[in-house]
Amino acid sequence: MDRLKAYIRNVPDFPKPGIQFKDITPLVKNPMMLRLAVHQLIHPFLGEEITAVVGMEARGFIFGSLAAWEMGVSFVPLRKPGKLPYDIQSVSYDLEYGSTSLEVHTDALDSNDKVLLVDDLIATGGTAVASCQLIEKLGAEVCACAFVIELDELNGRKLLSKYQVHSLIHY
Ligand code: AMP
Repeated sequence: MDRLKAYIRNVPDFPKPGIQFKDITPLVKNPMMLRLAVHQLIHPFLGEEITAVVGMEARGFIFGSLAAWEMGVSFVPLRKPGKLPYDIQSVSYDLEYGSTSLEVHTDALDSNDKVLLVDDLIATGGTAVASCQLIEKLGAEVCACAFVIELDELNGRKLLSKYQVHSLIHY
């Protein structure tokens, strides 16, 4: 996965001092690398009966919708508060300062669904675990979680110990 890593831009002190922001825009700008990343994200799950890919706003939409397209399954967006127009279910979770929530349409998934959760990056794992809770609130099953980038030292994987976790690039 060193080929992919070369297309991740490290931006120091963004959005605030001390954060090393992992910018995926060079990767998505390169069609071959984007295809490689999407194929590698879904590869372990091609034999599983996934019915939907769920992606979190906003960079999860890029990789998640392409993964759903490649797998021939539904794509379901999890959105920031106040964006979805129809009936919603929501989950709140803590950020470094304060809290936020994610929302999903109540008819987006049901107990027949087996989900692959996709995001660009796992750091503390807070966003991903909240997303899994939201998926389960709708009665669906989380089969696995897949990330392009994992920040190993934050150990977000530990919060997701109930689930299979797959990531392509490690820092
Ligand atoms: P966390 O909930 O701490 O696992 O954070 C994951 C979410 O925050 C993902 O949706 C990422 O897109 C974003 N994120 C967290 N840390 C970074 C980082 N260093 N660079 C880019 N995105 C990040």
